[in-house]
Amino acid sequence: MTISTRQPGAGAQPGPEGSTAAHAQATRQPTLQDRMRALPSMDRLLNDGRLDAYRTLIDRDLLKKTCAATLDDHRAAIRTGDDPGDLMTDLLARLARRLQPSLRPLINCTGVVVHTNLGRSCLSEEAAQAAYDAATNYTTLEYNLQEGARGQRNAHVEWLLCQLTGAEAAVVVNNNAGAVLVTLATLAGEREAIVSRGELVEIGGSFRIPDIITFAGTQLREIGCTNRTHLSDYERAITDQTAIILKVHPSNYRIVGFTTHPERAELAQLAHSRGVLLVEDLGSGTLIPPEDLNLSGEPTATQCLAEGDDIVTFSGDKLLGGPQIGAVIGAKKYVDKIRKHPLMRALRCDKMTLAAMETTLRTYLRGDWKKVPTLGMITATPEELRARAQSLQNHMASALGESGITTEIQPVDDAVGGGAYPETPLPGYALAITHRTKTAGQIQEQLRLGTPPVITGARHDQILIHLRTLRDREFPALISALKAALQE
Ligand SMILES: *Cc1c(COP(=O)(O)O)cnc(C)c1O
Repeated sequence: MTISTRQPGAGAQPGPEGSTAAHAQATRQPTLQDRMRALPSMDRLLNDGRLDAYRTLIDRDLLKKTCAATLDDHRAAIRTGDDPGDLMTDLLARLARRLQPSLRPLINCTGVVVHTNLGRSCLSEEAAQAAYDAATNYTTLEYNLQEGARGQRNAHVEWLLCQLTGAEAAVVVNNNAGAVLVTLATLAGEREAIVSRGELVEIGGSFRIPDIITFAGTQLREIGCTNRTHLSDYERAITDQTAIILKVHPSNYRIVGFTTHPERAELAQLAHSRGVLLVEDLGSGTLIPPEDLNLSGEPTATQCLAEGDDIVTFSGDKLLGGPQIGAVIGAKKYVDKIRKHPLMRALRCDKMTLAAMETTLRTYLRGDWKKVPTLGMITATPEELRARAQSLQNHMASALGESGITTEIQPVDDAVGGGAYPETPLPGYALAITHRTKTAGQIQEQLRLGTPPVITGARHDQILIHLRTLRDREFPALISALKAALQE
């Protein structure tokens, strides 16, 4: 997401080029040199009274640097014939941004639950508290209290992952890309991994299966066609160089129509009869049956193992709803090998992540998975969402009475996100907002640049506030952000 470096509206001020022809004749168009000369000197800029508010808040050196960079950018813009807008407005906006945290909370009104650009899953309060406690205290991260000796950082989550998936063993790393990488590096090394051409996908954010395989030092053996790969294709490709068959969840990419792919159980049987391992990158990886989420069609990690996968990898912050983590689960003898790979040290998780993951997994263990925000949002019913849209509409009506907006409750399609169920929209509700004079685009931009930032959907000339990803506790902040946006 890019945030404009110019304050809203600043660029709209008419520059010299904006003058009418008659005006230009009367007053002579300022030349490039005139415009350059009109810029203040560095000294004058630095001593301008309008910067006083920042002098105690910002380091003097940084203040100087920001002034210099702003001047440079305005000179460069003038040189290329652009209108950089008002220098002081721009400088003050830059200084204000310097004082504001860059990574900060925002309100997600898009209805996309696992929104990759907006940080995927939100932790439960309980998991966030565990991360906070781990962050601000010494912990049992690598200390075994019973033995009074060094312990394993993975131990905190391993037994939980095993309990919840039926796996014999588990390790976690920084993310699923890392999980796939360390699995390939350990179990295939320089030998071959067979992958169907229908699964050689790019997940986004430059995670490309062929690149990861190459980076692990493994030889990629592509087989089949984009739409159809048969068991016999796998069968013919296996040689004494083959280490693994890799099965990859196609994430948000679907091949539909004339397609075929062998069942997982068939692949497992083939792999094991030829002394090859079956590894699956499951991507999102849910721990509970999709039917409980009113979804269908994606297997759980448990099911993948039961059908014969030797190793399954998945993300912690997609459908699982925990922190960013990559889980590697499966047969103990392979997980134990992965655990000892030197890459593990480079990919290991920190104490805050492990604390949040342990707490999230314990929520599942208690059977309380609806308390995991991601799953609570996914399972919210249209009726609930409609009632919440009504409640938001009422709040807005009393807070924004004469503001020129019209609101209307509308059915919308929400999405799971994170590459899972790309073809299964979640039926939801939004509050659609129109304004007497402002366009949807203008309101959207003001909301995005406001405090807190609010990211909305849009349809025709309405902005859409999807209730699925909006929490009730965010209503007041949303309403004041909207109020501010309408006043701009
Ligand atoms: C999301 C995804 C990844 C990458 O996982 P990260 O946790 O973002 O590293 C890898 N493979 C598949 C199939 C995915 O969906």
